[in-house]
Amino acid sequence: MEAMSEEMKFEAEVSQILQLMIHSLYSNPEIFLRELISNSSDACDKLRFEAVSNADLLESDPDLRIVVGFDAEAGTITVRDNGIGMSRDEVVENIGTIAKSGTKQFLESLTGDQKTDSALIGQFGVGFYSAFVIADKVVLQTRRAGTEASDAVLWSSDGTGGYTLDSVTQQPRGTTVTLHVKDEHKQYVDHWQLHSIVKKYSDHVTFPIMMMEQLPPPAKPKEGEEPEEPKTPELKQVNAASALWTRSKSDITDDEYQSFYKQVCNDYEDPLTWSHNRVEGNYEYTSLLYVPKRAPFDLYESMAPKNGIKLFVQRVFIMDDAEKLMPRYLRFVRGLVDSNDLPLNVSREILQDNKIIDSMRRGSVKKVLSMLTSLAEKKPDEYKDFWAQFGNCLKEAPGEDPGNKDEVAKLYRFDTTHTATAGELTGLDDYIARMQSGQDKIYYITADSYSAANNSPHLEIFRDKGLEVLLMHDRVDEWMMGYFNEYDGKSFVSIAKGDLDLDGVGNAVEDSEKKAEKEKQAAEAAPLIQRIKTVLDDDTSDVRASTRLTSSPACVVMGEHDMALHMQQLLKQAGHDMPATKPVLEVNPSHPILELLDREQDDDRFANWSKLLLDQAMLAEGGQLEDGAGFVKRMNEMFMAMQPDPDVHSVDNTVEP
Ligand code: ADP
Repeated sequence: MEAMSEEMKFEAEVSQILQLMIHSLYSNPEIFLRELISNSSDACDKLRFEAVSNADLLESDPDLRIVVGFDAEAGTITVRDNGIGMSRDEVVENIGTIAKSGTKQFLESLTGDQKTDSALIGQFGVGFYSAFVIADKVVLQTRRAGTEASDAVLWSSDGTGGYTLDSVTQQPRGTTVTLHVKDEHKQYVDHWQLHSIVKKYSDHVTFPIMMMEQLPPPAKPKEGEEPEEPKTPELKQVNAASALWTRSKSDITDDEYQSFYKQVCNDYEDPLTWSHNRVEGNYEYTSLLYVPKRAPFDLYESMAPKNGIKLFVQRVFIMDDAEKLMPRYLRFVRGLVDSNDLPLNVSREILQDNKIIDSMRRGSVKKVLSMLTSLAEKKPDEYKDFWAQFGNCLKEAPGEDPGNKDEVAKLYRFDTTHTATAGELTGLDDYIARMQSGQDKIYYITADSYSAANNSPHLEIFRDKGLEVLLMHDRVDEWMMGYFNEYDGKSFVSIAKGDLDLDGVGNAVEDSEKKAEKEKQAAEAAPLIQRIKTVLDDDTSDVRASTRLTSSPACVVMGEHDMALHMQQLLKQAGHDMPATKPVLEVNPSHPILELLDREQDDDRFANWSKLLLDQAMLAEGGQLEDGAGFVKRMNEMFMAMQPDPDVHSVDNTVEP
């Protein structure tokens, strides 16, 4: 037998959160009711779900509901539900500790801004404690469905350091939370106050929320008449409790869609856009899918947040986070799918490999993509905001959902050489519309920052020819491009990889005369290139005359199928064993540095200069030098060589004394 009465201490975090919460919600105390009702609604959902396989749990009381009450004299507010309830252990685990991994992040993400913080509280699941914002004592009494009346528990706390647990007897199953309201918040102990808060925050809760009706005082009996029998007030439903998604689109206002989103998906902001569909084909289902305005704080963490789709079967809530209903790259979508065909007793296992689920998922993905496509077309500014928040999620699509690759690629936005500043993004269709005469490829470069991409020497020839290049500088880009060969019949070409053939592409300034001149230069430079190659044999796979460079002396080029340098670096740093891929060094024979180099007779100095050339090309590419100290030494030697002191070797000192 468990102890009848126990005094327990809160975990340190609980006390900390309580303090923060009381502080940060001070100006918006009314949300306590939303949080408690939401817990009650979850408890009813859980019971309904468990009762599908174990009808006994409903005992003799199958109508799930939430009752909000108050006692003006005692100064208390109560929220009661006949949901699943909690056992003693569950009370300790759920109410006495904050077992959730998010607690620390929660504490860190509090901003001090009350509106934002109060929304965070919902997101992080510490809702119950909001009761202490208006109450100086909270009592929770509960009995888990299916247990004995004598197994009920009474939890009570003043929210300062700990709580007490007592064993009690309670006939009806479920949970009652009683708030002893602080003096300064006594205005909430009032029928119409509570009524309006329920309407405001909990209208869409799918279980009835009831309040005792307010009866007018009995009329004074007329002379000689018997006084009227006082009426007994009845419970009346306060919320609409309608499954909004079952109504026809044309009957639902934007406001209703938005408030439904905020209540059901627990966001404090309106959604960016939504899509409501009734599908009648092989399978019948309704989906109501929302795109939030803001990405959750952990969207890009490896333990990514659960997906935000609720599964209903014939209006009955089945589960949150129905991950099978949305691919990972659309994990930011929130909302619900309500199936007419699934059995009510579905389990997560059944969902694993289920034709109905697959079909609903395919359909929902199409809906999301077309909703985003139309947002991009009709509201480009809002789409830009969307892209900033969720773009990197969409970039995970080609690996996960090859079937919709092109559809998703249409939604991509990149920086480009077409515009002068970062952040003026372009889509692939717009890029294609601007292609130059003779151009049939989409040129891009990947780098680890906008400026590294925008200043890459590889761009020189493209700028010269007026050819647009997409500047990709997110980590995921290099990986993503591995999945793309083409878009709309145009192949993708990384301008930093492989041979470059720009014959007849872009501005036709590259006339035959210029071309012949270049070829002549390259031929003349052949002995010099051979010399450099001998020196750099260990570090490069080839050295050749460049067709890409106009103003830089040299650049490194990766093989067509090699990974970009900055990515190799990144993986190495993350501890991956990277096979060393040697770059090609391309040199610009018409550059004065190459001319100087050509005149260098001293072999040691020539070797140093050649290495310096490779080093700077690597640096320009966002690569890191294996031998930074060697680079500095060589560079210093070069500085010294610039002194006009005859005792120090100078570059022009080609005549042996
Ligand atoms: P959240 O509801 O976000 O998980 P809370 O702090 O509000 O966080 O509640 C903690 C947990 O306590 C809930 O997850 C639930 O397991 C349990 N709980 C709270 N209220 C109830 C209730 N009315 N009935 C059953 N369980 C409840």
